[in-house]
Amino acid sequence: MKEKEFLKRAMDEIDDNPSSRIPQTVKNIKDNNDYMYDAHMHVFDKKCAAKNYFLLRLIEKLDEKKGVTDDIVEFIYEKEYDNEIDDLFRIMDFNSMDKVLDYYIENFAYQKKMIFVPLMVDLNSWIFKPKKSIHRQINELKRLMNNYAVLPFHSIDPVQSETKGLNNLYNLFIHAFTGHNKLFGVKLYPALGFLPSHPQLMPIYEVCQAKNIPVTTHCGGTIIRTNKKNIVLEGFQIINNEVVSYTDKLTEKGKERAQRLNNPALWEPVLKTFPKLKLNLGHFGGIDEWKKYPAQTNQDRIPKIQQLMNEYPNVYTDFSYNLSEQKIIKKFFDTISNNTLFEERTMFGTDYWMVLAARDYYKNQVNFIDQAANYNLKDTLLLNNPRKFLFNKVV
Ligand SMILES: [Zn+2]
Repeated sequence: MKEKEFLKRAMDEIDDNPSSRIPQTVKNIKDNNDYMYDAHMHVFDKKCAAKNYFLLRLIEKLDEKKGVTDDIVEFIYEKEYDNEIDDLFRIMDFNSMDKVLDYYIENFAYQKKMIFVPLMVDLNSWIFKPKKSIHRQINELKRLMNNYAVLPFHSIDPVQSETKGLNNLYNLFIHAFTGHNKLFGVKLYPALGFLPSHPQLMPIYEVCQAKNIPVTTHCGGTIIRTNKKNIVLEGFQIINNEVVSYTDKLTEKGKERAQRLNNPALWEPVLKTFPKLKLNLGHFGGIDEWKKYPAQTNQDRIPKIQQLMNEYPNVYTDFSYNLSEQKIIKKFFDTISNNTLFEERTMFGTDYWMVLAARDYYKNQVNFIDQAANYNLKDTLLLNNPRKFLFNKVV
């Protein structure tokens, strides 16, 4: 499908009211009180992500300076990691998303009454390809909506603009957002090798803004990234206050490739073009940024996120994954309780099951939510802010 046809069909066929995309399972929970949102989690199974993905997740916490083998042994022996490494291996064997979600609800959910936001990730441009096509993954998530309180986000990657048929970028989008069950938002992972302002993505943001579809992007760690060298980057930049085309080569090595592509500053030309877009910069910049905060240089992401929130009314963030890092929790709560913008635009998310490799996740989650209550921010982070991001009609 070409851009023009896509825009016409999407504008004609997709409702601009997010409520039209809420499944009955979610409505049933919303009718009651005392529920909460997990605004950033994943239910993909071993056919959506290759086993190497899981292994990377396991070893990402290892200390680079030490000998790796010894480190792995230590990692596995450490008591506090024990259960959840087990859990991770169990999840590695599930071949359907409902099993992955059941496992969460059974073993890790903070409470029974929860609305989950599972984010797809399109790993087709990664070195380890998924076995289930994105089209099949969409169908599976649509079925999941019949039985679970989920608001799934569809993954987009401009590499799919070159694909023909069902898995073409625009065909996938129309498929995701039409039919009896509709997906609810969009997820991007720029570190897999593209700029957020890629020309093929601009029509998608145009539709997302017009139809009040929320967009979440990865703005955190660097472990998942493109392995390709010298990728030509296409997109837009702002010069003299105008949005103009931009091309460059991605020549960085290792994690610097991901660091460059995950930079929230790259969203500026998108937001300048679609200033009302609902955008969640997931992971709030990532753990390393929080460790060095409030040190401020041009490269620091947290001040950049604040600037984008200040300029654009619908920019949000979530603290998923980071809640596993006890050292930064106090700093996080002290910061957002003294910053109105952060307080109004930050959401709770877990990053299940990515986060299972990062220490004792269940304990850390409970501690995080207890702290939120102490700072009087529990409803703000777990309920009110996700509700605004997901359901607000901004146009
Ligand atoms: Zn995630």
